[in-house]
Amino acid sequence: MSHNHEPTDTPGPAGVRNVVILGGACAGLTAAIYAARANLQPLVIEGAEAGGQLMLTTLVENFPGFPEGIMGPDLMQAMRAQAERVGAAFITEDAVEADFSHRPFRIRTQSGEEVRARAVIVATGARARMLGLPSEERFLGRGVSTCATCDGFFFRKQDVVVVGGGDSALEEALYLANLARSVTVVHRRDQLRASKIMQERAFTHPKIDFIWNSEVADIAGDGKVTAVRLRDRVTGEVTERRTDGVFIAIGHKPNTEIFKGQVETDAQGYLLPTHGMMSSVEGVFVAGDVHDHTYRQAITAAAFGCMAAMEAERWLQGEAALTPVEHWGTAEPVGESKAGAPKGGPGKGARKTARP
Ligand SMILES: Cc1cc2nc3c(=O)[nH]c(=O)nc-3n(C[C@H](O)[C@H](O)[C@H](O)COP(=O)(O)OP(=O)(O)OC[C@H]3O[C@@H](n4cnc5c(N)ncnc54)[C@H](O)[C@@H]3O)c2cc1C
Repeated sequence: MSHNHEPTDTPGPAGVRNVVILGGACAGLTAAIYAARANLQPLVIEGAEAGGQLMLTTLVENFPGFPEGIMGPDLMQAMRAQAERVGAAFITEDAVEADFSHRPFRIRTQSGEEVRARAVIVATGARARMLGLPSEERFLGRGVSTCATCDGFFFRKQDVVVVGGGDSALEEALYLANLARSVTVVHRRDQLRASKIMQERAFTHPKIDFIWNSEVADIAGDGKVTAVRLRDRVTGEVTERRTDGVFIAIGHKPNTEIFKGQVETDAQGYLLPTHGMMSSVEGVFVAGDVHDHTYRQAITAAAFGCMAAMEAERWLQGEAALTPVEHWGTAEPVGESKAGAPKGGPGKGARKTARP
């Protein structure tokens, strides 16, 4: 993936961006495409891990439009190229500080650059919690997965292990049981944390069995996963179990540290949209895995990015009644006053003129 270290355009006359998008993956890049095509000249601070979680995977078979599937990094490169082509600018750094206490909002990047924005779309995603084994990294996308919905299909009629004991581990196990030959849930304790109803479903499923008081000591294979080594936490004994896949389901962590205390979150730190995609702070919108712990898919993250950008545009149009029109920083003249602006605000006008 190529990176721009310099923004490709400049902020409006007041030195304030219309929209700054934090995160350069499915949600952020889709938001960028919509915001750019609405003539908002978005700046994407795409983060050190530009492209996001799909950069860690191989074949993506469930993103519509690719009958043969597409490699995760190729999909992200295409999304970024599309955003760039329609006018989004990029900074390939992490945002390290955000001040949403007053407007314009302020964001500071790793290199110390300060960016000011009328509206912000937070699309910083989430990370799956991992076991911390070097072998797990080596086999990620080659038998190790963090997403049954994404990768279960590759394990039809095979034997898989699910690691974890909460609701999401059992959700993964039940999903996989429809595809795999057998599903073994490995849990470090002697009872599950999952809800009673999920436990009942899993306990009564003929394809699901459990290994208790055990943790994964290592993942073995040759190019792809062939076995897990399990350590019994009571006896210390290590045994090897043949498997075709290992699904790690011990939770996710949203990338929201820098917004702590400023934007409402749930107990796990996921940002909470309060109405539509707007967060508890007016003018700050959320999109993708940073707020969504239910679906966690590329297509849903992209859809949330679209929604956030459309809502940001509408909100900015409302705000334009209060701010001078020149602050929009449009590519085309939009008239000297609000009265002279195209009906519905500059965003709408730009969209009309862009069509043949
Ligand atoms: C191994 C794997 C395989 C998967 N396979 C599939 C699949 O086959 N199909 C599918 O639909 N989904 C799949 N998923 C899920 C999918 O990748 C996610 O749902 C999707 O990437 C979420 O997109 P997002 O834009 O919300 O966030 P993410 O992909 O998490 O990206 C977050 C972005 O925010 C940036 N960022 C983070 N912190 C900061 C910061 N402080 N400042 C600036 N930027 C920041 C990162 O650099 C990154 O660009 C898979 C996930 C994994 C881990």
